[in-house]
Amino acid sequence: MLGNLKGMVMTFITSLRTPVTAQYPDVRMPVEERRMGFPMLLWDDNIVEPYCTGCMVCVRECPTKCMSATMTDNPKHAEGTSHRRKIIDVFEINIGRCILCGICVDVCNFDAIEMSYETELSTRTRNGRRMDLGELLERGYNWQAQSGWIPASQRVQNSEEQE
Ligand code: SF4
Ligand code: SF4
Repeated sequence: MLGNLKGMVMTFITSLRTPVTAQYPDVRMPVEERRMGFPMLLWDDNIVEPYCTGCMVCVRECPTKCMSATMTDNPKHAEGTSHRRKIIDVFEINIGRCILCGICVDVCNFDAIEMSYETELSTRTRNGRRMDLGELLERGYNWQAQSGWIPASQRVQNSEEQE
């Protein structure tokens, strides 16, 4: 009997609490400024070309198989203005299948891809959000400016110079 009463009191108290459920997208909860969003491709301003060589390592390692890429011979390498023999030709990420695991970033040896701050890219259509090379580079370029990103190889070089 006492147990039942306690339960009813607890239910009554709980019913007076302010709801904690936010009805997205009408109500947006605050998110950390440096959150991990969808992956984007990065742009090498020094050579004026993508960092991505189309090596396919990320494509092979992606657990949801949502990426595809093809490489081509880099004309700038033939001209002697780029150290990249190969360069990305076609790249696509099916954002609807990306689980934001970050594996593509971890396995890339060319500083070519990073997890951006972009988290709101959902659609109501199955497979309805595919990003091609142009969009991935444009969004990546904006993210580079926003975050002050410098390549990992450059960061290592900077820290060695400071030592
Ligand atoms: S993003 Fe990196 S791992 Fe993926 S294809 Fe480009 S260079 Fe290779
Ligand atoms: S974050 Fe994970 S799931 Fe998304 S593209 Fe990269 S490897 Fe694939």
